[in-house]
Amino acid sequence: MLVYCMQNNFQKYNALVGGGSSGAVIANRLSKNNKVLLLEAGGDPLWYNYIPVFSLEMLNRYKYHESRWPRGKVLGGSSSLNYMIYARGHELDFNNWANITGDSSWNYKNVLPYFKKSLIYKGEFSKNEKHYGSTPYGSLQVESRNEVLMSDIVTDAAREYGFKDGDLNGPQKSGIGAIEATLKKGSRCSTFTAFLEPILSRKNLHILRYSHVTKIKLDSLGSARGVFFNRHGKKYYVRASKEVVISAGAVDSPKLLMLSGIGPKEHLSELGIKPKVDLPVGKFLKDHIGVLVGPFLFDKPVTTFPERDLGLSTFLEYFVNGTGHLTFPNLLHMHGFISTSKVKQQHQDWPDIQLYFSYAGIYDNMVQDFSGLTGAKKNTLEQYFSNFIGQHGVSIGVALVRPKSYGDLKLQNKDPATPPLLDPRYLEHPDDIKAFVEGIQFVVGFAEKTKSFQSINSRIPDIYFPGCEKHKLKSDEYWECYARHYAFTIFHPIGYNYY
Ligand SMILES: Cc1cc2nc3c(=O)[nH]c(=O)nc-3n(C[C@H](O)[C@H](O)[C@H](O)COP(=O)(O)OP(=O)(O)OC[C@H]3O[C@@H](n4cnc5c(N)ncnc54)[C@H](O)[C@@H]3O)c2cc1C
Repeated sequence: MLVYCMQNNFQKYNALVGGGSSGAVIANRLSKNNKVLLLEAGGDPLWYNYIPVFSLEMLNRYKYHESRWPRGKVLGGSSSLNYMIYARGHELDFNNWANITGDSSWNYKNVLPYFKKSLIYKGEFSKNEKHYGSTPYGSLQVESRNEVLMSDIVTDAAREYGFKDGDLNGPQKSGIGAIEATLKKGSRCSTFTAFLEPILSRKNLHILRYSHVTKIKLDSLGSARGVFFNRHGKKYYVRASKEVVISAGAVDSPKLLMLSGIGPKEHLSELGIKPKVDLPVGKFLKDHIGVLVGPFLFDKPVTTFPERDLGLSTFLEYFVNGTGHLTFPNLLHMHGFISTSKVKQQHQDWPDIQLYFSYAGIYDNMVQDFSGLTGAKKNTLEQYFSNFIGQHGVSIGVALVRPKSYGDLKLQNKDPATPPLLDPRYLEHPDDIKAFVEGIQFVVGFAEKTKSFQSINSRIPDIYFPGCEKHKLKSDEYWECYARHYAFTIFHPIGYNYY
């Protein structure tokens, strides 16, 4: 192996692997007082990364019946291609982490000041100093957007359910509100924009783009001393002065640890990797799963058709004012959280279901797009949607956000270029499918039974999702079948990378 040694240039640097959502923040904070070498597999974001509506186009489309997990190989990482929804974890999530780890700094009251400190908050709730507030430190900009035709209908329906406020990051109860997004004058504010771009000339920070780290070098005590990486066809080694920080995401961090000999002993030995530190890396792989419920058809013209409505004036509005359709990824405008009955039985409001509302009508290319997004076969979706193309109506997203099912991530072999095997065992835990179906039934009631939706004659037509014909339409069994056929990752993997 030919290894170029970079230690002469960088021997006083900490090595940071991955300049994504978390890596960009760490690079910013660490390089205030320390020398940091940031090794990033990708390069700078391109023009289309900045325009929110192109989020769907940036996904590496599914092959049918395959669940692909897209992630950003670019500075800013997945924050350079995600849907930009600014949604803080729930207070009880953080308090739970504090209990599990025995580390009270994870308590929400201790974490909240950092949320506030990281932001330039330009949203609707800026008067709420307790949860937002503006400090001179912040650089991640969060904005609200102008309302769309559907917003009033969803808001009024939410009021019928007793949801009043719409502020989902503040008091954190069940509720439905407009999406607040990481945007800067309507264009994407990724962690690259927020945390790296402003400090590109900082002397302490050196960024090596297109540098794919393949292995961490460990000393005899199992401490990280440096990293090996490939760049433009050459292999390099760089020694770290103090620390090696791995922030390569929920898929690539465990992969890199295992390639370096940190992971379950038996699994590494099977692949011919010498185990150096025996730890459950790759275990407890979890992901949020979602399903598009619909189509809800409407009699009134309240939705938007991209092929008809995204014309020159839309682009002008975006480039001149930073507003309009192009600021909405997938035309998602509102979201919400609800707690299902099992959670409520414990006298808690700790939502386990998230809802997503788009205002895209049933447009020409929808089957193609939904098939690409969900992995469902195109001809299955053609059969399901074909009679409704061109009509006003929506599908509403329902996602399970506190799943109990978990699986694992394993290596296929010891080649760093080979993707790992991912098995989150979606819906394996019986409570998950129950909560998922309850979430679907909630949405059906919300969009069919509220006065607000009835005012546009909202209804799901009497059609079966192909494969679920043997169940009674809209019964729990039917929706379970529907979910098992049509659900897909909503791109939030986490796992156990403990080291
Ligand atoms: C399509 C999509 C939509 C989403 N929508 C939202 C949303 O609306 N709101 C929300 O809060 N979350 C959303 N998420 C989730 C969120 O974006 C991720 O949870 C978050 O970005 C993960 O941050 P990270 O730092 O762990 O990883 P990443 O941001 O993925 O960063 C990992 C970085 O490491 C680099 N890297 C990986 N391996 C190596 C290596 N071997 N050597 C060098 N560099 C390496 C990558 O290139 C990347 O830059 C979405 C995700 C996706 C994919």
